[in-house]
Amino acid sequence: CGIFAYLNYGVSRERRYILEVLFNGLRRLEYRGYDSAGISIDSSNHSDYEIAPPPLVFRQEGNIETLVKSVYQNIAATDINLEESFSIHAGIAHTRWATHGEPSPENSHPQTSDSGNEFLVVHNGIITNYEVLKETLLRHGFTFESETDTEVIPKLAKFVFDNANEEGNQVVLEVMRHLEGAYALVFKSRHYPNELIACKRGSPLVLGVKELSKEASNGSSFNDAKFLSSNGQPKELFLSSDASALVEHTKKVLMIEDGEVVHVRDGGASIFKFDHTKGKRGGTLTRPAS
Ligand code: GLU
Repeated sequence: CGIFAYLNYGVSRERRYILEVLFNGLRRLEYRGYDSAGISIDSSNHSDYEIAPPPLVFRQEGNIETLVKSVYQNIAATDINLEESFSIHAGIAHTRWATHGEPSPENSHPQTSDSGNEFLVVHNGIITNYEVLKETLLRHGFTFESETDTEVIPKLAKFVFDNANEEGNQVVLEVMRHLEGAYALVFKSRHYPNELIACKRGSPLVLGVKELSKEASNGSSFNDAKFLSSNGQPKELFLSSDASALVEHTKKVLMIEDGEVVHVRDGGASIFKFDHTKGKRGGTLTRPAS
């Protein structure tokens, strides 16, 4: 029922900070109603463009404070450090209002492609042709663990990726070609570490960008030139179901339109049209794909 995603780029953020930004985003979306919630963050720092270690996924029935508590409890039971810093990191979060499958941890989002969490998806809306897609994916050897309509989406993404090994935005465009119904989606993938790919048709989605001064990256461990390829500016990028969850971060927001794919990477956000030609919209937020 609510989507929130956060990517910091060129500005050092601790795991605890990243979690709190995601939790606060969900708290701002609480008014939309929900029965469960979930998030995904990285399990460790990793370099770009190689398969990243499986991300951490936390899913919980109940309200957001229940999720918050269980995330901190779970982390405390591991050797994961809340003070670990990330110069670039992509996190996703979700509040669910169940349409298919009762409220439960398995039915909460992010939904996943496989036990290794290669593709994770948060979804707002309903996929009306999920039964047909599920049958096809079952025939191709996929196994399902939830009763949601959403679970076909990450599995379809993995299927497309495994067969074509394309860039993230192309994978998502191909996935969209098969989906019927209403959706806003944000993907996080081990194949595209430090990127977020989002799209929408029928459900709302807003992109927010906060440009930080160059000094903001001072003192951070961030010194990899390839991450500064867009304009060298540290940034924070957000995706949300509602602009009201972004006001505390930035006024620079862009409403995503039906049929658009947003690809957040290398400190920029490119917008593509479902018809496979690059959208002209986006003003300063859009930059060339390669
Ligand atoms: N249809 C999806 C589900 O039931 C998403 C519901 C929502 O928008 O929260 O899991």
